[in-house]
Amino acid sequence: MSNTAVVHEDTPELGQELAEPPSLSAQADHPQDQELQSWRHLKNFLATHFPAASLKDWENWRWQLKNRITSARSMARILGLEFSPYVAAAGGLPAAVTPYYLWVASRSKAVQRCILPDIRETEIGPFERPDPLGEDVHSPVPGIVHRYPDRVLFLVTDFCSTYCRYCTRSRLVGKSGHHSDMRSWQVALDYIRQHRGVRDVLLSGGDPLTLPDMKIEWLLSQLRDIAHVEIVRIGTKVPAVLPQRVTPALTRMLRRYHPLLMSLHFAHPEEITPETSAACARLADAGIPLGSQTVLLAGVNDDVTTMKRLMHGLIRNRVRPYYLYQCDPIPGSAHFRTPVDTGLGIIKGLRGHTSGYCIPTYVIDAPGGGGKVPLQPDYVLGRDEQGVGLRNYEDRIFHYPDFGQEA
Ligand SMILES: *Cc1c(COP(=O)(O)O)cnc(C)c1O
Repeated sequence: MSNTAVVHEDTPELGQELAEPPSLSAQADHPQDQELQSWRHLKNFLATHFPAASLKDWENWRWQLKNRITSARSMARILGLEFSPYVAAAGGLPAAVTPYYLWVASRSKAVQRCILPDIRETEIGPFERPDPLGEDVHSPVPGIVHRYPDRVLFLVTDFCSTYCRYCTRSRLVGKSGHHSDMRSWQVALDYIRQHRGVRDVLLSGGDPLTLPDMKIEWLLSQLRDIAHVEIVRIGTKVPAVLPQRVTPALTRMLRRYHPLLMSLHFAHPEEITPETSAACARLADAGIPLGSQTVLLAGVNDDVTTMKRLMHGLIRNRVRPYYLYQCDPIPGSAHFRTPVDTGLGIIKGLRGHTSGYCIPTYVIDAPGGGGKVPLQPDYVLGRDEQGVGLRNYEDRIFHYPDFGQEA
C-alpha cells in the first residue's frame, strides 16, 4: 500500500507552512476567492489524508509518485464513497492515482469516473479486444509501432503516474512495475536510425514525463543525433495528473531539443487547475507547441457544453485542441463509449459557434490498424453539374459553383 505519507523530519509542520497568504481577499465571486477556497480545501485534504506531509512535499513530484494511491478501496475511502468489494476484482488494468489528482477528483465526479475501477470493466463486449488498434502487429521491434510511412510511435515506458480506466494501452501499461531501460531503447533507436524515412518520432507509453530528466535527455539527444529525425513529440498526461513534474529544470532541458512538440491528454475542464495552468505555461514558455488529446467519454465529457468548456480552457492555456478520439474498444470499456453520432454532434456544436482554434479533429482509430480516420458532420449536401450544396453551422443552405473539372 502506498497511501501512507512519507515523514520528512526536517520539513515544517503543515500549519506553519500554510499560513494564509494575506494578499488573497475573500470577496465573493472573485477568482481570487475561488483560489483561496481551493487552497483551504487542499489544506484540509492534506491534513486529513496525508497528515505527515508538508506543502513542500505536496509540490514535489517524487513525493507525489511515492504516495500514489493504488487500490480502489483506498481511493473510495479518501473520496468518501461507498466501497463495493466487487470493484477490487475488476479488470487487468492496475489502479493508481497521484495524491494530487485524487484531490482534483475529490471535487469532480467526472474526474472520479476516469480513475476509479468499476465493476463494469469485467464485462467484455463482443467487439472488444486487448489490442484494438493492431499495434502489436505493426510493431517491427519491441517498443516501436510503425503504422504511417514517415513517423513512428516509440513506447518508452509502461509506467503512468495515474491510470485512466479507458486507457487504449490497458494491455501494456503498469505491467512491469518499472521503467524501461536504455538497453531496450537501443533496439528501438537502431530501428529509427536504419529507417531514413522516419522524420517524426512520437514518444509515448506509459507516460514519458514520469522518467527522470536524465533519461528523457538521453533519449532526446540520441534522437537529435539522427539526421533524418526532424521533429520529436511527447505524449503525456503529466500536466493534468502530476503538474509538479513540470519543473523549471525539466523545461530548461527540453528547450535544448527543439523542434519538440507535446500532445497533452485532457478529459474534463475540471482538470484545469491553477497548478495545471502553471505547468502548461512553463511548457509553452519553453517554446513547445502544445496540442491536446481527449477521449470522448460517456458521463464525463459527452456533451457540447462540457467539451466547449474544456476546449476554451485549453486554448486559454495555449494548448491547441488536436484530437478528439472515439473511445477505443478495449476490454470492459462499453460504459465509456458513446455512439459516433454523439461525437459528430459535439463537433457540429463547436464549428462556427466558437473559435476554429478550439475545434479538435474527431477521429476513430480504425480497429485492426487502419490508423486515425477523421469524421466530420455532413456539411456537403451533395453536388450536381452546377456545383456543391453546402450546409453552414446554422443549418442554412448555400450553393458554391463548381464544375468538377479544371477548365
Ligand atoms: C496517432 C499515431 C501517430 C501520430 O499520428 P498523427 O496524426 O501524426 O498525430 C503515429 N503512429 C501511430 C501508431 C499512432 O497511433
